[in-house]
Amino acid sequence: MSWSSVKTEAVILSSHPWREADRRYRALTASHGKIEFIGRGAQKEKAKLASTLEPFAIVNVEYIKGRRSTTVIATDSHHRFRVLDTNLERRLLAESILFFLNRVTDEDEADSALYQMLIDWLLFLDDDKPLSSLRSSFLLGGFLLRLLSRLGYKVELRHCLDCKQDIFPLAFRWHARQGGLVCSDCVMAKPEEWFAAKLVSEEAIKLIRFARDERLVDLLRLPLSSEHLAVFANIVNDLVVHHLPGNWDRPFWTAILAEFELEEPLGMM
Ligand SMILES: [Zn+2]
Repeated sequence: MSWSSVKTEAVILSSHPWREADRRYRALTASHGKIEFIGRGAQKEKAKLASTLEPFAIVNVEYIKGRRSTTVIATDSHHRFRVLDTNLERRLLAESILFFLNRVTDEDEADSALYQMLIDWLLFLDDDKPLSSLRSSFLLGGFLLRLLSRLGYKVELRHCLDCKQDIFPLAFRWHARQGGLVCSDCVMAKPEEWFAAKLVSEEAIKLIRFARDERLVDLLRLPLSSEHLAVFANIVNDLVVHHLPGNWDRPFWTAILAEFELEEPLGMM
C-alpha cells in the first residue's frame, strides 16, 4: 500500500493534546479546505513540530492522508504574527475568528477566497495600536458579517425583502430569520407575515453596512457609541444564530475564549 503526501500552506486553527504524546490539529488551507491531522510526538518538550504549529502561524505542511487518520510528516514556518503572539486583546479577537472559522468549515471543502479573508484579517489585526472593547466587538461583528456573505448569506440592507423597493430612512424593520430589511408598507400590508420584524435604529443599520462593506482599515476610524453598538451586536448575533451552522447558545461576543480553550469532542480520526 502506498500513500502519497500532500504539501500545502495552512493556517493553524486549533490544537489539542491527543493520546499520550501527540497533538491533534485543525488548519485551514486554500486548496484543501479545513484539514485535521495528528502531529506525532508533538507534546514532547522542544518538539520541533509543536514549535512550528502554533495557532495563527502560517505554515507549510506536508501530510499523509491514511484511511483512519492524517499524519503530518514535515512542517516549516511561513509567517508568524508577532503582535498576535504577545498582545492579549488582539490575540483574543484573532482567536475568536479562528474559533468561528473552525466551526463553520468542513474538511475538503476548498474555498480559497475564505482562506484569503482569514489571512487579510490576521495581517490587519497584527498591529500593536490599542483596541477598546467596543472596537473589538465591532471588528468581530464585521468579520462575522463578511463570513456570512462568503457563506452565501448576504444581508439585504438596500431593498425591501418583500416588494424589492428601495429602503427609506425610518421606514423599515429588521427581520433576522430572513436576513434583511422590510419596508414599513409591507409590514403594514402583511402583518401576519412580518410580525417578527423588529424596529431598529438607522444608526445600527449604518454600522452593519459599514462593518460589512468598508475597507478593514476604515473599521478602526468610525466613531462608535455603546448604544448603537449594542443594537448592532444583537443584529449580528441574530444572524449568527439563524444562519451559521452549529448550536450557538451564547452571544458571539462572550462565547469565545472559554469554548476555544475547551477540549472539543473527538471526531473520527
Ligand atoms: Zn416592501
